Amino acid sequence: MKLSNFFLPILRDVPSDATIKSHQLMLRSGMIRQSASGIYSWLPLGFKVLKKIESIVRDEQNKAGAQEMLMPTIQSADLWKESGRYDGYGLEMLRIRDRQDRELLYGPTNEELITQIFRDNVKTYKSLPLILYHIQWKFRDEIRPRFGIMRCREFLMKDSYSFDENKEGAIISYNKMFCAYLKTFERLGLRAIPMAADTGPIGGDLSHEFIILADTGESQIFTSKKILDLKISDFKNDSESLAKMVKSYTDIYSATDEKFNQSDFDKSVEKKDQLVTRGIEVGHIFYFGDKYSKPMKALVNSSEGKNITIEMGSYGIGVSRLAGAIIEANYKDNVMKWPASVTPFHVAVIYLGKKNDETLKKKTSDVYEKLLNNSFEVLLDDTDESPASKFKNFDLIGIPYQIIIGAKQSGDEFEFKELGEEKEIINLDIIINKLKKIYFN
Ligand code: ATP
Ligand code: MG
Repeated sequence: MKLSNFFLPILRDVPSDATIKSHQLMLRSGMIRQSASGIYSWLPLGFKVLKKIESIVRDEQNKAGAQEMLMPTIQSADLWKESGRYDGYGLEMLRIRDRQDRELLYGPTNEELITQIFRDNVKTYKSLPLILYHIQWKFRDEIRPRFGIMRCREFLMKDSYSFDENKEGAIISYNKMFCAYLKTFERLGLRAIPMAADTGPIGGDLSHEFIILADTGESQIFTSKKILDLKISDFKNDSESLAKMVKSYTDIYSATDEKFNQSDFDKSVEKKDQLVTRGIEVGHIFYFGDKYSKPMKALVNSSEGKNITIEMGSYGIGVSRLAGAIIEANYKDNVMKWPASVTPFHVAVIYLGKKNDETLKKKTSDVYEKLLNNSFEVLLDDTDESPASKFKNFDLIGIPYQIIIGAKQSGDEFEFKELGEEKEIINLDIIINKLKKIYFN
């Protein structure tokens, strides 16, 4: 992509309504624009990042054995009356009437709809265990939308639903998702801590929130520094290994303010290890047994030939919120550096030569073509802006690697820079090999 063609409306000044750095950066770098309170459009730069986050989330769900599908954003109110949540959900639910005066709603979550799909189509334990998921926009009419896409009204969520014959099976599904979440966040360059959580309007008796540490987070968290030393080794998907991995995390006291208890905290974590800080919730998992399957009569024929209500869990990841969370974790001293896994472009080529230096321009475009031919996503700055203003823009765009081409350039040696590091002069083929190792290994 050539910057001169790229739709990237960069803002020079920090918008006054943006109080946290991810919101400021997303507006300044032209990733998003607000279209109504708490409702955003994703412009090309932001959309690229969103899609990359989504594909990592998807990949780890698939690896855990979950099957992707797609449910609509608009749901019938009748289902929510069956589960008993229609009234309880309150003002956060956007309620709609169609021309026949039927009650509809814009889905804030999908427990009811998936339970209906399950009960209409699955009759026997032989189809179990089953985990289904989709990645779809949700709407919650938040009382105070704030922090840009971090707490907005329309947001992209990955939500999975597990169906098992009994509690034992449901816990295995829960553990699968628990571990898939740790893996997902690690691939996004985030350290997410699972915390014992309240189940809220979803209900149930086992629940963890996945929280990343950030001063601007809305949740206060209490944990042990020791949890930061745990390593997510490549784990096997058998139920024993999963349970072991979950246990290594859940054995360490970790709770948000909702569940926090000072005396338990003091008993479980030595004073010197206590970590009290703030964090951003990026995922939330629930085991809730028959909370929906019972009122909605989702029954299957069990292995013992009895009709039993299905055991369920649900598992959410805030896909769009993650873009903000990644920025909160990586935007420092006015410089953004995307993790390699989600960067909107792999490498920037920045032309600093004269406007009329056709030889150098030709060389630059050869470098650009060569990178493209090697399957890299490249952003070429071919504009006439001053070097200072170019570098300022790239500090906002956050591409982690730059090839800088100026008047002093000679032969096949180029100035190569990783953001925040010293620049080096190296051969283009070596640069390409370096980048291949980083991105395609
Ligand atoms: P929160 O406590 O932040 O309000 P929640 O508990 O209501 O979230 P869940 O129902 O667990 O959220 O939804 C799953 C995930 O969806 C959350 O972990 C979060 O990452 C994301 N999410 C929830 N509400 C919003 C929102 N208003 N804007 C952006 N993302 C959201
Ligand atoms: Mg929550």
